[in-house]
Amino acid sequence: MLEILEKTGAYLKGHFLLTSGLHSGQFFQCAQLMQYPEPTALLCSELASHWDADKVDAVVGPATGGILLAYELARLLEARALYAEPVEGKVMELKRGFKIRPGERALVVDDVITTGGSVKKVIDVVRERGAEVLGVGALVDRSGGVSFGVRLTALVSVEVPNFSAEECPLCKKGLPLEDPDERLASAT
Ligand SMILES: [Zn+2]
Repeated sequence: MLEILEKTGAYLKGHFLLTSGLHSGQFFQCAQLMQYPEPTALLCSELASHWDADKVDAVVGPATGGILLAYELARLLEARALYAEPVEGKVMELKRGFKIRPGERALVVDDVITTGGSVKKVIDVVRERGAEVLGVGALVDRSGGVSFGVRLTALVSVEVPNFSAEECPLCKKGLPLEDPDERLASAT
């Protein structure tokens, strides 16, 4: 799994400056994977296989990382694909007339689980509407053990430590610090 992510540029190793200001030796950008439909479909079918006995009615992801995943998993699980969007930067909402009804069974998906914040907001949206959250599916769980209180299946589980600039062992080794977007932009 990691090999496919690395090959498509979705998994980078090096010394990265994150938007949070922290440094990290690894970086995930699953949009890089999802520009290639074939490996994306392959990974999604592996993820869907964990849920195909569960009679899923709707697959719901947070925009933007969860939109394509929700679509492909819904296609495989013969469910509806929905996505939730942030409203005023805080809560997630089902906009665009998307509906999930009381008693329906939902699978919540995201590409990368970092802190789990967006996934938790989507779980809340689904439950507020009286639907049941069967579980959470992700390509990568790099949270180091977040719990949503429901079943979680991730194709890749890795603990990715982040460091402050002062404490960064990669800085101490003298490795040049990179912006992950610039690395991706300059990659051939
Ligand atoms: Zn550093």
